[in-house]
Amino acid sequence: MNAPLPTNRSETAFEDFKLPLLRDAAIVEANRCLFCHDAPCIKACPTAIDIPQFIRKIATDNIRGSAKTIFEANILGMSCARVCPVEVLCVGSCVYNDLEQPPIAIGRLQRFATDVAYEQGWKFFQAGADTGKRVALIGAGPASLAAAHELRRFGHACTIFEKRTTVGGLNSAGVAPYKMKADRAMNEVDWILSIGGIDVRTGITIGEHISLADLERDFDAVFIGVGLGVDSTLGAPGESLEGVHGAVEWIERMKLGMLDLSKIGRAMVIGGGNTALDAVRELRGLGVANVTMLYRGRREVMSGYVHELAAAQSEGVAVEWQSVATAFAGEGRVQRVSCLRLDDAKRPIAGSAFTLEADLVLMAIGQSKLNAMFAGFHGVEFDHGQIRVNHHGFTGRKGWYAGGDCTNDGKEVVNAAAEGKRAAHAIDAVLSGAHHHA
Ligand SMILES: Cc1cc2nc3c(=O)[nH]c(=O)nc-3n(C[C@H](O)[C@H](O)[C@H](O)COP(=O)(O)OP(=O)(O)OC[C@H]3O[C@@H](n4cnc5c(N)ncnc54)[C@H](O)[C@@H]3O)c2cc1C
Ligand code: SF4
Repeated sequence: MNAPLPTNRSETAFEDFKLPLLRDAAIVEANRCLFCHDAPCIKACPTAIDIPQFIRKIATDNIRGSAKTIFEANILGMSCARVCPVEVLCVGSCVYNDLEQPPIAIGRLQRFATDVAYEQGWKFFQAGADTGKRVALIGAGPASLAAAHELRRFGHACTIFEKRTTVGGLNSAGVAPYKMKADRAMNEVDWILSIGGIDVRTGITIGEHISLADLERDFDAVFIGVGLGVDSTLGAPGESLEGVHGAVEWIERMKLGMLDLSKIGRAMVIGGGNTALDAVRELRGLGVANVTMLYRGRREVMSGYVHELAAAQSEGVAVEWQSVATAFAGEGRVQRVSCLRLDDAKRPIAGSAFTLEADLVLMAIGQSKLNAMFAGFHGVEFDHGQIRVNHHGFTGRKGWYAGGDCTNDGKEVVNAAAEGKRAAHAIDAVLSGAHHHA
């Protein structure tokens, strides 16, 4: 089962950056909602939560009904209320933006309703009558958890195999602690598993301890929710020096354990995506005085969210735009990073070399794909390293489905939740005999 989490972790230094809404404030905010017909906020949500409906229920003080509306659409509604980039999803699409008034605080309202449900111990769902069918799920991240919960509602038995000793995937091990800490993500896993009939086997790597052929033989269907692999590397000289790490690997150690940063005066994070932005904010929050983000493109083309960049800069993070690291140097441990500036076509500018000091460097330039385990496994095919699925989450090999980061190249928890649920419906359609081809 799940390994216990140490109480003393680096991530516990962080407070939530968005404060919870209290009941009265939630009701006032809910009453601002225009309950739009054809609501754009619903369309912006990958799990299509009926947002005006759950908000209307808060407005009438029916918190239980509100939470049920949320969880019916998205069983990970508690964590999504905290970790979703609402600014670019539901809140970003609220009609109030066009009226130049503050949009409805949808995420905070969702957090209010789901937190009350957790505090009160309300349970909304029951497992369906046993069908005698068995489904294996690879990985205990959001995609598999959402799939397994839905499969249990249909009455299929589920076994989740997880290679880590902890559950929750990157929702436990990756998400920035000022949004949500690992213990809360794991609490959500327990809450989801309380439907019963989901056997979670941690410390088991599929492809190593159990083969794909074994899974295929022993189960009626398999869901692949393996996410992405280890951090990519630059291949630059000196990258193996002490103090140079992959960002996702470092974030996991920061969230699940205690790091000693007392000797780190200057840190550099290489990359321009959301993992890079999380890492710089985490380093600043943990007291590192000088934090620099080094990104090879211009501000306009970075994949990280603008609102996260603004927050990082207001917290004192420096950014070197259009720059790359070419080598790392130091005595055993990294001390200096050689850099070059790039022009708009990403070509090095002659004579632009410069050196920055850093005692810690994190690479946030992407994560590798975990497709090697499926090499030669006919029918599970890839597009640019991502597992290819149809719009039901079916891979093309009979009985094999997939969803989440391994199929979408790393989106958000809410996408993984939507895709896991979608695959569960396709699996049920086949196992129950309603549909024979997906
Ligand atoms: C640093 C970071 C911060 C993020 N912050 C946010 C955020 O704020 N908001 C947000 O919405 N999203 C965020 N994300 C993205 C989000 O975490 C992912 O989109 C989501 O977790 C994907 O879910 P998943 O189930 O597909 O994969 P994962 O969460 O990666 O879970 C996959 C699981 O499969 C396991 N596994 C892999 N291979 C095997 C195998 N062979 N056998 C058994 N188990 C295996 C892994 O150990 C893992 O537990 C962040 C991601 C990162 C890296
Ligand atoms: S778009 Fe805004 S105002 Fe309209 S239903 Fe959604 S949250 Fe309410």
